[in-house]
Amino acid sequence: MLKLAINTLVNLFFPVYCLACGKTGEWFCQSCVSKLHFSTESLAVKNNRHATDGIWVVMAPGQTSVEKLIKYFKYSGVKDIGEILGSQAGDFLKAKFKELPQLRFDAVTSVPTSKRRFKWRGYNQSEILGQVVATKIGLEYIDGLQRVKYIRPQVGLNSKNRVNNVKNNFAVALEFEPINKNILIIDDVVTTGSTINECAAVLKKRGANLVWGVAIIKG
Ligand SMILES: [Zn+2]
Repeated sequence: MLKLAINTLVNLFFPVYCLACGKTGEWFCQSCVSKLHFSTESLAVKNNRHATDGIWVVMAPGQTSVEKLIKYFKYSGVKDIGEILGSQAGDFLKAKFKELPQLRFDAVTSVPTSKRRFKWRGYNQSEILGQVVATKIGLEYIDGLQRVKYIRPQVGLNSKNRVNNVKNNFAVALEFEPINKNILIIDDVVTTGSTINECAAVLKKRGANLVWGVAIIKG
């Protein structure tokens, strides 16, 4: 009862409304969810320089409603949005697995955030997405990667500096054994793919077989 009262108060001052159409009650209403388009292309990154076997982008470009959701999820502390976006990513992946039945995965992990950013936001947005995706596609979620030092945000850096900026900033968690595993790495936004690629590189160094990235949007 007290919780309900508190929720009512919170909703009074911070009303929940659909970020796309403004309808009250949820952050993204069913009608707006049904209007979303999945991306039809994957980011081709497989070449000698890249450890990632491929990166899927879930959402088709140019959908302002999705960009707004990501923004609220990352910068305004609206954790519930992870459920909406992760669930979309899960549906997208289920369709991909039907198209490519030879491609099988063993585990889902996510791009780790720095301790500083985690403290500031209170959660790692990619981890939330990863957990929702894992549940949706029936795989185990593993907290398999760690960030070894703080890096400055990638925004504003050119492609070459982005690569340098993330070099050797990730490590495989001690309790994770990636040998011969096919692993999905989830992130919210992919730009050049350098962050996911660095994560894939450390997983492959520890014996992972296939590593694919999944991002909600290309930023
Ligand atoms: Zn709506």
